[in-house]
Amino acid sequence: MKRRKFFGQMGMAISGFFGIGSLHGHPHSRNTLPKRLSDHPISIGTWNCPDAILTSGQLMEGGTPSLEAVVKGVAVEEANENNTTVGIGASPDRSGRVTLDACVMNSNGDCGAVMAVENIVHVARLAQHVMEDTPHVNLVGLGAEEFAYSKGFPKTQLLSMAAEKRWKAWLQKSEFTPKINVENHDTIGMLCLDAQGKLSGSCTTSGLAYKMKGRVGDSPIIGSGLFVDNQVGAATATGLGEAVIKTVGSFLIVELMRNGWSPQKACEEAIGRILSQQTGKPDFQVGFIAINIAGERGAFSIHKGFSFTHYESGKAINVPSSSAY
Ligand code: ASP
Repeated sequence: MKRRKFFGQMGMAISGFFGIGSLHGHPHSRNTLPKRLSDHPISIGTWNCPDAILTSGQLMEGGTPSLEAVVKGVAVEEANENNTTVGIGASPDRSGRVTLDACVMNSNGDCGAVMAVENIVHVARLAQHVMEDTPHVNLVGLGAEEFAYSKGFPKTQLLSMAAEKRWKAWLQKSEFTPKINVENHDTIGMLCLDAQGKLSGSCTTSGLAYKMKGRVGDSPIIGSGLFVDNQVGAATATGLGEAVIKTVGSFLIVELMRNGWSPQKACEEAIGRILSQQTGKPDFQVGFIAINIAGERGAFSIHKGFSFTHYESGKAINVPSSSAY
Protein backbone atom coordinates (compact mmCIF):
# COMPACT_ATOMS: atom_id res chain seq x y z
CA MET A 1 0.00 0.00 0.00
CA LYS A 2 1.29 3.48 -0.79
CA ARG A 3 2.29 5.20 2.43
CA ARG A 4 0.13 8.21 1.55
CA LYS A 5 -2.95 6.00 1.63
CA PHE A 6 -1.79 4.17 4.72
CA PHE A 7 -1.27 7.35 6.67
CA GLY A 8 -4.50 8.77 5.33
CA GLN A 9 -6.32 5.77 6.78
CA MET A 10 -4.54 6.06 10.09
CA GLY A 11 -5.56 9.73 10.16
CA MET A 12 -5.45 11.49 13.47
CA ALA A 13 -5.76 8.30 15.46
CA ILE A 14 -2.02 8.15 15.77
CA SER A 15 0.35 10.85 16.81
CA GLY A 16 0.75 14.23 15.11
CA PHE A 17 3.60 13.39 12.80
CA PHE A 18 1.33 11.17 10.77
CA GLY A 19 -1.40 13.81 10.54
CA ILE A 20 -1.58 15.65 7.24
CA GLY A 21 -3.10 19.00 6.47
CA SER A 22 -5.29 20.90 8.89
CA LEU A 23 -3.38 23.25 11.18
CA HIS A 24 -5.98 25.10 13.24
CA GLY A 25 -7.74 23.19 15.96
CA HIS A 26 -5.28 20.31 15.65
CA PRO A 27 -4.56 18.53 18.94
CA HIS A 28 -0.96 19.71 18.75
CA SER A 29 -1.74 23.36 18.25
CA ARG A 30 -1.81 25.86 21.11
CA ASN A 31 -3.80 29.05 20.95
CA THR A 32 -0.90 31.40 21.50
CA LEU A 33 2.79 31.24 20.82
CA PRO A 34 4.73 30.69 24.04
CA LYS A 35 6.69 33.53 25.64
CA ARG A 36 10.45 33.37 25.99
CA LEU A 37 11.42 31.60 29.20
CA SER A 38 14.86 33.14 29.80
CA ASP A 39 17.23 35.43 27.96
CA HIS A 40 20.08 32.91 27.92
CA PRO A 41 21.37 32.49 24.39
CA ILE A 42 20.41 29.28 22.63
CA SER A 43 22.42 27.49 19.99
CA ILE A 44 21.46 24.18 18.47
CA GLY A 45 23.02 22.31 15.58
CA THR A 46 22.57 19.11 13.64
CA TRP A 47 24.70 16.07 14.52
CA ASN A 48 27.60 15.99 16.98
CA CYS A 49 29.26 19.37 16.56
CA PRO A 50 30.39 20.45 20.06
CA ASP A 51 33.11 22.88 18.97
CA ALA A 52 30.79 24.70 16.58
CA ILE A 53 28.04 24.95 19.20
CA LEU A 54 30.44 26.09 21.92
CA THR A 55 31.78 28.76 19.60
CA SER A 56 28.36 30.20 18.80
CA GLY A 57 27.03 29.83 22.36
CA GLN A 58 30.02 31.51 23.96
CA LEU A 59 30.03 34.31 21.40
CA MET A 60 26.40 35.07 22.19
CA GLU A 61 27.13 34.93 25.94
CA GLY A 62 29.69 37.66 25.23
CA GLY A 63 27.10 39.77 23.44
CA THR A 64 27.73 38.79 19.82
CA PRO A 65 24.49 38.92 17.81
CA SER A 66 23.02 35.62 16.61
CA LEU A 67 23.90 36.06 12.92
CA GLU A 68 27.61 36.55 13.61
CA ALA A 69 27.52 33.72 16.16
CA VAL A 70 25.90 31.29 13.74
CA VAL A 71 28.28 32.08 10.89
CA LYS A 72 31.33 31.78 13.16
CA GLY A 73 29.89 28.59 14.67
CA VAL A 74 29.40 26.76 11.37
CA ALA A 75 32.80 28.05 10.20
CA VAL A 76 34.36 25.68 12.76
CA GLU A 77 33.01 22.70 10.82
CA GLU A 78 33.77 24.28 7.43
CA ALA A 79 37.43 24.42 8.51
CA ASN A 80 37.40 20.91 9.99
CA GLU A 81 39.09 18.56 7.52
CA ASN A 82 37.71 15.55 9.34
CA ASN A 83 34.13 16.52 8.61
CA THR A 84 33.60 14.89 5.23
CA THR A 85 30.31 16.66 4.50
CA VAL A 86 31.22 20.31 5.09
CA GLY A 87 33.91 22.67 3.81
CA ILE A 88 37.51 21.61 3.37
CA GLY A 89 38.03 17.83 3.32
CA ALA A 90 34.49 17.17 2.13
CA SER A 91 33.68 14.37 -0.28
CA PRO A 92 33.58 15.44 -3.93
CA ASP A 93 30.94 14.90 -6.58
CA ARG A 94 31.41 11.95 -8.91
CA SER A 95 33.70 13.98 -11.18
CA GLY A 96 36.07 14.59 -8.25
CA ARG A 97 35.10 18.22 -7.60
CA VAL A 98 34.18 19.46 -4.13
CA THR A 99 31.26 21.85 -4.50
CA LEU A 100 29.76 23.55 -1.46
CA ASP A 101 26.28 24.91 -0.69
CA ALA A 102 25.29 27.23 2.16
CA CYS A 103 22.71 29.72 3.26
CA VAL A 104 22.02 32.16 6.08
CA MET A 105 18.85 33.83 7.30
CA ASN A 106 18.57 36.58 9.89
CA SER A 107 15.95 37.90 12.28
CA ASN A 108 14.60 40.37 9.70
CA GLY A 109 13.84 37.57 7.26
CA ASP A 110 16.76 38.55 5.04
CA CYS A 111 18.59 35.66 3.48
CA GLY A 112 21.43 34.73 1.17
CA ALA A 113 22.67 31.51 -0.37
CA VAL A 114 25.48 30.14 -2.48
CA MET A 115 25.35 26.89 -4.39
CA ALA A 116 27.86 24.60 -6.08
CA VAL A 117 30.81 26.78 -5.12
CA GLU A 118 34.35 25.51 -5.62
CA ASN A 119 37.59 26.60 -3.92
CA ILE A 120 36.02 28.59 -1.08
CA VAL A 121 35.98 27.19 2.47
CA HIS A 122 33.70 29.57 4.36
CA VAL A 123 30.59 29.49 2.22
CA ALA A 124 28.20 30.46 5.04
CA ARG A 125 30.09 33.75 5.37
CA LEU A 126 29.90 34.08 1.59
CA ALA A 127 26.13 33.56 1.76
CA GLN A 128 26.01 36.35 4.35
CA HIS A 129 27.81 38.63 1.88
CA VAL A 130 25.25 37.73 -0.79
CA MET A 131 22.52 38.70 1.68
CA GLU A 132 24.13 41.94 2.79
CA ASP A 133 26.08 43.20 -0.21
CA THR A 134 24.03 42.22 -3.26
CA PRO A 135 20.44 42.75 -4.38
CA HIS A 136 20.11 38.95 -4.77
CA VAL A 137 19.42 35.90 -2.63
CA ASN A 138 21.16 33.11 -4.58
CA LEU A 139 24.51 33.04 -6.34
CA VAL A 140 25.71 29.82 -7.95
CA GLY A 141 28.91 28.27 -9.26
CA LEU A 142 31.52 30.49 -10.86
CA GLY A 143 29.50 33.63 -10.16
CA ALA A 144 29.54 32.88 -6.44
CA GLU A 145 33.24 32.01 -6.56
CA GLU A 146 34.17 35.23 -8.36
CA PHE A 147 32.04 37.20 -5.90
CA ALA A 148 34.01 35.52 -3.08
CA TYR A 149 37.33 36.71 -4.53
CA SER A 150 35.94 40.23 -4.88
CA LYS A 151 35.23 40.10 -1.12
CA GLY A 152 38.75 38.93 -0.31
CA PHE A 153 38.10 35.23 0.26
CA PRO A 154 41.18 33.11 -0.45
CA LYS A 155 41.20 30.40 -3.14
CA THR A 156 41.62 27.06 -1.34
CA GLN A 157 41.99 23.49 -2.57
CA LEU A 158 39.00 21.77 -0.94
CA LEU A 159 39.74 18.19 -1.99
CA SER A 160 41.91 16.64 0.72
CA MET A 161 44.16 13.67 0.04
CA ALA A 162 41.91 11.50 2.19
CA ALA A 163 38.78 12.57 0.29
CA GLU A 164 40.51 11.97 -3.04
CA LYS A 165 41.47 8.48 -1.89
CA ARG A 166 37.87 7.72 -0.84
CA TRP A 167 36.57 9.04 -4.17
CA LYS A 168 39.04 6.90 -6.17
CA ALA A 169 37.96 3.85 -4.19
CA TRP A 170 34.30 4.74 -4.86
CA LEU A 171 35.05 5.03 -8.60
CA GLN A 172 35.89 1.31 -8.73
CA LYS A 173 32.20 0.50 -8.54
CA SER A 174 30.66 3.96 -8.96
CA GLU A 175 27.52 2.94 -7.12
CA PHE A 176 25.43 5.83 -5.89
CA THR A 177 23.12 4.94 -3.04
CA PRO A 178 22.40 7.63 -0.47
CA LYS A 179 22.96 5.44 2.58
CA ILE A 180 21.65 6.22 6.04
CA ASN A 181 24.11 7.93 8.35
CA VAL A 182 27.13 6.68 6.52
CA GLU A 183 28.61 8.74 3.76
CA ASN A 184 26.08 11.53 3.76
CA HIS A 185 26.02 12.95 7.23
CA ASP A 186 27.42 15.86 9.20
CA THR A 187 25.92 18.70 7.20
CA ILE A 188 25.68 21.42 9.76
CA GLY A 189 22.46 23.32 10.22
CA MET A 190 22.62 25.71 13.17
CA LEU A 191 20.01 27.91 14.82
CA CYS A 192 20.94 30.68 17.26
CA LEU A 193 18.74 32.83 19.50
CA ASP A 194 20.62 35.64 21.24
CA ALA A 195 19.91 37.48 24.49
CA GLN A 196 18.05 40.16 22.53
CA GLY A 197 15.65 37.53 21.22
CA LYS A 198 17.02 37.70 17.66
CA LEU A 199 17.03 34.43 15.76
CA SER A 200 19.42 33.52 12.95
CA GLY A 201 20.31 30.33 11.15
CA SER A 202 22.76 28.84 8.73
CA CYS A 203 23.11 25.58 6.86
CA THR A 204 26.37 24.56 5.17
CA THR A 205 27.31 21.37 3.31
CA SER A 206 29.09 19.69 0.45
CA GLY A 207 25.85 17.81 -0.23
CA LEU A 208 25.67 14.13 -0.99
CA ALA A 209 28.96 12.38 -1.56
CA TYR A 210 29.46 11.45 -5.23
CA LYS A 211 26.40 13.41 -6.32
CA MET A 212 26.00 14.27 -9.99
CA LYS A 213 28.00 17.27 -11.11
CA GLY A 214 25.79 20.33 -10.65
CA ARG A 215 23.46 18.71 -8.11
CA VAL A 216 22.26 21.03 -5.36
CA GLY A 217 20.34 19.70 -2.37
CA ASP A 218 18.14 21.32 0.24
CA SER A 219 20.79 22.91 2.42
CA PRO A 220 21.10 26.26 0.59
CA ILE A 221 17.41 26.39 -0.39
CA ILE A 222 15.57 28.82 1.88
CA GLY A 223 12.47 27.09 3.24
CA SER A 224 13.88 23.62 2.67
CA GLY A 225 17.26 23.37 4.41
CA LEU A 226 16.63 26.42 6.63
CA PHE A 227 13.91 28.83 7.59
CA VAL A 228 13.86 31.55 10.24
CA ASP A 229 10.95 33.74 11.31
CA ASN A 230 11.69 35.90 14.32
CA GLN A 231 7.99 36.03 15.26
CA VAL A 232 7.83 32.25 15.50
CA GLY A 233 11.00 30.17 15.42
CA ALA A 234 13.44 28.46 13.09
CA ALA A 235 14.16 25.04 11.62
CA THR A 236 16.93 23.36 9.67
CA ALA A 237 17.43 20.00 8.00
CA THR A 238 19.98 17.34 7.23
CA GLY A 239 19.78 14.15 5.21
CA LEU A 240 18.53 13.40 1.73
CA GLY A 241 17.95 16.90 0.36
CA GLU A 242 15.62 15.80 -2.43
CA ALA A 243 13.10 14.55 0.15
CA VAL A 244 13.35 17.77 2.15
CA ILE A 245 12.87 19.97 -0.92
CA LYS A 246 9.76 18.03 -2.01
CA THR A 247 8.09 18.84 1.31
CA VAL A 248 9.66 22.29 1.94
CA GLY A 249 10.48 20.90 5.35
CA SER A 250 11.95 23.83 7.31
CA PHE A 251 9.25 26.26 6.18
CA LEU A 252 6.62 23.68 7.05
CA ILE A 253 7.99 23.34 10.58
CA VAL A 254 8.00 27.10 11.14
CA GLU A 255 4.45 27.40 9.79
CA LEU A 256 3.28 24.62 12.10
CA MET A 257 4.92 26.43 15.03
CA ARG A 258 3.17 29.64 13.92
CA ASN A 259 -0.05 27.70 14.30
CA GLY A 260 0.87 26.77 17.84
CA TRP A 261 2.62 23.43 17.37
CA SER A 262 5.59 22.72 19.62
CA PRO A 263 8.96 22.44 17.82
CA GLN A 264 8.99 18.70 18.59
CA LYS A 265 5.54 18.00 17.11
CA ALA A 266 6.32 20.21 14.13
CA CYS A 267 9.52 18.25 13.39
CA GLU A 268 7.58 14.98 13.71
CA GLU A 269 4.95 16.21 11.26
CA ALA A 270 7.61 17.27 8.74
CA ILE A 271 9.08 13.76 8.83
CA GLY A 272 5.55 12.38 8.52
CA ARG A 273 5.06 14.37 5.31
CA ILE A 274 8.20 12.80 3.86
CA LEU A 275 7.09 9.32 4.92
CA SER A 276 3.68 9.89 3.37
CA GLN A 277 5.40 10.21 -0.03
CA GLN A 278 7.20 6.87 0.31
CA THR A 279 6.23 3.31 -0.34
CA GLY A 280 7.44 1.27 2.60
CA LYS A 281 10.29 2.08 4.95
CA PRO A 282 12.63 4.53 3.22
CA ASP A 283 16.31 3.63 2.97
CA PHE A 284 17.41 7.23 3.37
CA GLN A 285 17.75 9.48 6.37
CA VAL A 286 16.34 12.96 7.04
CA GLY A 287 16.59 14.81 10.35
CA PHE A 288 15.12 18.14 11.41
CA ILE A 289 15.85 20.39 14.38
CA ALA A 290 13.78 23.40 15.40
CA ILE A 291 13.48 26.04 18.11
CA ASN A 292 10.72 28.51 18.80
CA ILE A 293 11.10 32.03 20.13
CA ALA A 294 10.36 30.81 23.65
CA GLY A 295 13.51 28.73 23.44
CA GLU A 296 11.77 25.33 23.25
CA ARG A 297 13.46 22.87 20.93
CA GLY A 298 12.56 19.82 18.89
CA ALA A 299 14.28 17.20 16.76
CA PHE A 300 13.06 14.21 14.81
CA SER A 301 14.42 11.92 12.11
CA ILE A 302 13.30 9.07 9.92
CA HIS A 303 15.80 6.55 11.29
CA LYS A 304 17.71 6.16 14.54
CA GLY A 305 21.21 7.58 14.48
CA PHE A 306 20.50 11.28 14.08
CA SER A 307 21.53 13.54 16.94
CA PHE A 308 21.74 17.24 17.68
CA THR A 309 24.00 19.36 19.87
CA HIS A 310 22.83 22.28 21.97
CA TYR A 311 24.44 24.89 24.16
CA GLU A 312 23.63 24.96 27.84
CA SER A 313 25.44 26.77 30.67
CA GLY A 314 28.78 26.89 28.90
CA LYS A 315 28.58 23.30 27.64
CA ALA A 316 27.74 21.66 24.33
CA ILE A 317 25.50 18.67 24.89
CA ASN A 318 24.87 16.03 22.24
CA VAL A 319 21.45 14.38 22.36
CA PRO A 320 20.14 11.50 20.25
CA SER A 321 17.03 12.46 18.31
CA SER A 322 13.83 10.44 18.48
CA SER A 323 12.87 8.87 15.18
CA ALA A 324 10.04 7.30 13.23
CA TYR A 325 11.93 3.98 12.88
N1 ASP B 1 21.02 17.74 3.06
C1 ASP B 1 22.27 17.61 2.36
C2 ASP B 1 22.00 17.51 0.88
O1 ASP B 1 21.07 16.82 0.49
C3 ASP B 1 23.09 16.43 2.77
C4 ASP B 1 23.30 16.24 4.26
O2 ASP B 1 22.52 16.70 5.06
O3 ASP B 1 24.28 15.60 4.62
O4 ASP B 1 22.74 18.08 0.12
